Amino acid sequence: MKTIVVASGNRGKLREIAAIFGGFEIVSMREAGFSGEIEENGSTFEENACIKARAVSQALGCMALADDSGLCVDALNGAPGVYSARYAGSHGDDAANNALLLKNLENVPAEKRTAYFESCVALCLADGRVIAAHGRAYGKILFAPQGDGGFGYDPLFFSDELGKSFGMAEEKEKNAVSHRAKALAALKEKLGGVGL
Ligand code: IMP
Repeated sequence: MKTIVVASGNRGKLREIAAIFGGFEIVSMREAGFSGEIEENGSTFEENACIKARAVSQALGCMALADDSGLCVDALNGAPGVYSARYAGSHGDDAANNALLLKNLENVPAEKRTAYFESCVALCLADGRVIAAHGRAYGKILFAPQGDGGFGYDPLFFSDELGKSFGMAEEKEKNAVSHRAKALAALKEKLGGVGL
């Protein structure tokens, strides 16, 4: 069985990847022995996903998969976008990020609160070639959080496909329509083309 090292330690992401890439052994970069830090200084999701996948693949000499994702709000011209994790300043402060998002949309009416989550996944092969794919989940930003499931902006994101917030959804329900699941499925489709 071929191994894919994932440039993430997030258990939820690893489970989601393992469910879609059934024929591969999925291991996290830490389990595979990668201990470095990666600077995500790209200006698009694709640039950041490629930076992470290349860094891990080159360090370990193996196939590596990375994803980069975020929330794009139409009324904010696509913000927070690639800055989603550090929108309010410090990295990964979900409560502060959500509070700032609500504040910045204070006077925006329901019909103008359209948004989407975007994910880019990139697989760097052992020979250095990189294959990337994208996925999106469309919805609207709520006026107040609904549910406490998921992570990040999930409680504020009303999914058009689910008819409820990602915060109210079971992990399985979210994974059926999520931006990441769609990107991973699109990537899997492309793998046949390179003989994997
Ligand atoms: P990452 O690329 O998965 O690290 O995500 C970057 C940031 O985008 C996260 O810190 C979240 O703020 C936001 N984000 C990405 N995907 C999701 C999601 O599925 N739900 C909620 N927030 C997300």
